[in-house]
Amino acid sequence: MKVEKAYKFKLEPTPEQAEKLSQMAGCGRVVFNDSLELMLNIARKQSGITDKKALYKHLNDLPYVERKAIGKLLPNSASLNKQLPTWKKQDNRQWLGQAFAQCLQQRQRDLVSAIGEWIKGKRGFPVFRTRKLAHHSTMRFPNPKLQIAIERNHIKLPNGLGMVKYRNSRDVVGELRNATVSLNAVGEWHVSIMCLLDVELPEHVQGEMTGIDMGIAKNMTLSTDCCGDEGVFEGVHSFRAHQEKLAVEQRKLSRKVLGSENWKKQKQKVSKLHQRIANIRSDYQHKATSEISKNHAMVICEALKVANMSKSAKGDSENHGKNVAAKSGLNKSILDQGWHELRRQLEYKMKWKGGVYGEVNPRNSSRECAECGHIEKDNRKTQAEFICQSCGHSDNADKNAARVILMRYLRELELAA
Ligand SMILES: [Zn+2]
Repeated sequence: MKVEKAYKFKLEPTPEQAEKLSQMAGCGRVVFNDSLELMLNIARKQSGITDKKALYKHLNDLPYVERKAIGKLLPNSASLNKQLPTWKKQDNRQWLGQAFAQCLQQRQRDLVSAIGEWIKGKRGFPVFRTRKLAHHSTMRFPNPKLQIAIERNHIKLPNGLGMVKYRNSRDVVGELRNATVSLNAVGEWHVSIMCLLDVELPEHVQGEMTGIDMGIAKNMTLSTDCCGDEGVFEGVHSFRAHQEKLAVEQRKLSRKVLGSENWKKQKQKVSKLHQRIANIRSDYQHKATSEISKNHAMVICEALKVANMSKSAKGDSENHGKNVAAKSGLNKSILDQGWHELRRQLEYKMKWKGGVYGEVNPRNSSRECAECGHIEKDNRKTQAEFICQSCGHSDNADKNAARVILMRYLRELELAA
């Protein structure tokens, strides 16, 4: 499985290299600002507002349709990129030639995507980049395979920068995707490198990775299809009948005179039923967890939280029908115990075989799209069906949740690495 992995290292440039980095970042700021000025001029003409502050207020107060209409008037990054050679020829911009052309083009693409976010209402209209704010000094190398090279404790950067020393805290593995050099508030330069790599599991561990959604209607649903019935473990069907019988026998017991012969007989009956139910459950749980751990190298569940469960007891629709427990009349604490036990067994069985067991935050897992990550209550219109309101992805709701659980863990791995 391919995942993106980010590395960040502190650069230790020589004074000459630091000077060059500052120049390059400065050129990037100017190109960003010149491109922004060009856009603001279009907005000025369109709105008739000349005062900068008033213009920004006007732009940020516009409704979506009008922002979209203005967006159509603004140049895209390709047309901005085309103007760069002309800008470099202007008397007051000749020093732009010192910069790395592809980083300048990238700054224009950054601006255009910021405009896109403004149109969507995710942020305000972009503002001018100043030297005073360190995070305004960044350079992205969009094609690192050609532009950079990593050699032990040096990173080779283009545009005459040469070999820049960096503090190598760990080896960079994977395929280089992009690299960004940036200045922080205390005047240090860092490089962030994004790589694409295959997540590899120990060779002796057999099987794939799976996420597990636990519920009531279906006890366990796996993101993979290799266990149970296409990855679904329905749970013990006879369990409910036994539960009902147990309730009846317990009621009978409560009516007998405590300590009497009849009471003792009835007490024995209840105990036997308890034992039988426990055996059926235990048998099912061991069989299911053995099958799952045998066939997978990585098993991921949702973390079971006490707060979460009391919420679902109140009938919160978020917890994929765990509130059904109340409706079905099943003893909720017994169900909860079951979920704990399944996790406990999965964890130790995975450890035995040298595989991975992990848990993730369950928040909104039933509302999140496994394809695009969009989270919305309406994604889950019915108990069984998931339809993403953003990308249209549709799947069985439990299968979707199981995939989300696995993805969450892989994402965490990526961040923790
Ligand atoms: Zn989606």
